[in-house]
Amino acid sequence: MAENIELYQSILLFGGTGDLAKRKLYTSLFNLYKKGYLVSHFAVVGTAREKLTDDEFQQLVIKSIEKLGTESQVRDFASHFYYKAHDVTNLADYKQLADMLNELDEKYDTHGNRIFYMSVAPRFFGVIGQAIKTEGLMSETGYNRLMVEKPFGVDLQSAEELQSQLTSGFEDNQLFRIDHYLGKEMVQNIPALRFGNPILESAWSKDFIKNIQVTLSEELGVEERAGYYNTAGALLDMIQNHTLQIVAWLAMEKPESFSDSDVRAAKNSVFSKLRIYDKQGVIDNFVRGQYGRGEEVWQKAYTEEPDVPADSRNDTFVAGRLYFDTPRWEGVPFYVRSGKRLAKKQTRVDIVFKNSDFNFGPANGGRLQENVLSIIIDPMGSLEWSINGKAVTTDFQTDVDVLNWTMSAEDKALAPDPYERMIHDTMNGDGSNFADWTGVQTSWKFIDAINNVWDKDDEGVPLEIYPSGSMGPQASDYLLAQTGDHWVFNPTTEAE
Ligand code: NAD
Repeated sequence: MAENIELYQSILLFGGTGDLAKRKLYTSLFNLYKKGYLVSHFAVVGTAREKLTDDEFQQLVIKSIEKLGTESQVRDFASHFYYKAHDVTNLADYKQLADMLNELDEKYDTHGNRIFYMSVAPRFFGVIGQAIKTEGLMSETGYNRLMVEKPFGVDLQSAEELQSQLTSGFEDNQLFRIDHYLGKEMVQNIPALRFGNPILESAWSKDFIKNIQVTLSEELGVEERAGYYNTAGALLDMIQNHTLQIVAWLAMEKPESFSDSDVRAAKNSVFSKLRIYDKQGVIDNFVRGQYGRGEEVWQKAYTEEPDVPADSRNDTFVAGRLYFDTPRWEGVPFYVRSGKRLAKKQTRVDIVFKNSDFNFGPANGGRLQENVLSIIIDPMGSLEWSINGKAVTTDFQTDVDVLNWTMSAEDKALAPDPYERMIHDTMNGDGSNFADWTGVQTSWKFIDAINNVWDKDDEGVPLEIYPSGSMGPQASDYLLAQTGDHWVFNPTTEAE
């Protein structure tokens, strides 16, 4: 047990029979139960369209967790689960949910604390958020917190509409906008590295850093998600949210403290300095691609995938160059890249430091290389620090040494799933690892500016077709070459 603190609350889960609930939410709640955060003073109400009894719902929950604990743990945990069939668009249904929550508050002495989790299609977020308030589901004695799944809008306008619907009932600080990348162990390592090590903190600026690279690459193609993915693409699916949230941890100033309000303020402040591109800026700084066939027979082109229109212009790859107009980052490019069907699955950050101009003499022949700190987030957490050292030679030559730390299998097993951490943080009212509204607004402004140009095909931004199994189109390499840089992570060459 990590800490001996039991947290008191009832959780109302919209979408209780859905994929996310079954794969992630019940296991995360069960882990919190096993760690002692949920013991006796909690109840979970699942709702969805299907008609189930409490017992059938508990069996569904048990199926998700039965391999993770003893029989008595599983049985006791599942006994806290209740079910109510409900159509989120039917206001009359909410009254029964309110009565149920009131009864459970009393039965489990939850102090009236309530978490509402919207694990349903995003088109329902607004209506649910409003109904919770208007139909009397909010507690008057404890806290009320709303966890919102992604995506938060599809552009600035829809995000603003959603924000206004949700804030008609909730204060902004009661909203917990989920970005599960922020719950990842190695993403949370970024502030630990930056602010826990004076040597890194003092080097974390344009004075020492040449560029910063964030890569979220996937080997898989669109798989069964074509219906959704073909309306979103890599820019919306990966850059607007996860990538920009990671970038904010990298670019922000040191917060006044590590409290959630100070962390959010520091992130918002740097987001407000993100350069939003005009048309020429988009053309100069962003590349879009779509996967074509690969060498393997199964590597079909994107437009040959089931349910993808043969004339789809959707982006399955994006690479871009960002700038923050702050004194710390003046002239330092932040490169971002994400795509499907790339050579290797990896989520990582590479911080490329400026090279030394020291001359070790003719024998060394200019072999000093830029130091690179790599934070590998997935699939295996690790840190790599490549530095110059002496090569074992008679004359004086330098060589690159790579210092490596990899998370142990034990630590990996102990690391909470992002959903576990995010539910726990919501119970504690800690919003540091959730997307703040100001940041969401800025990221949509930034993304909308790109989409506005891309949507007009005649405006000179080609859709580059790249071979499946590569690291994207060549234009992505040219993008960095233009500013004298190259991608550090390139599994298609030996110089990885
Ligand atoms: P899903 O389609 O598997 O489940 C949706 C749930 O909503 C079901 O329980 C269904 O009964 C319920 N529902 C549908 N219409 C309803 C209505 N009118 N009234 C009441 N309930 C209704 O979806 P999912 O994959 O679990 O995704 C849920 C949310 O989580 C979405 O916002 C999605 O974007 C987000 N998300 C999911 C994943 C994932 O891995 N599944 C990952 C990240 C984010």
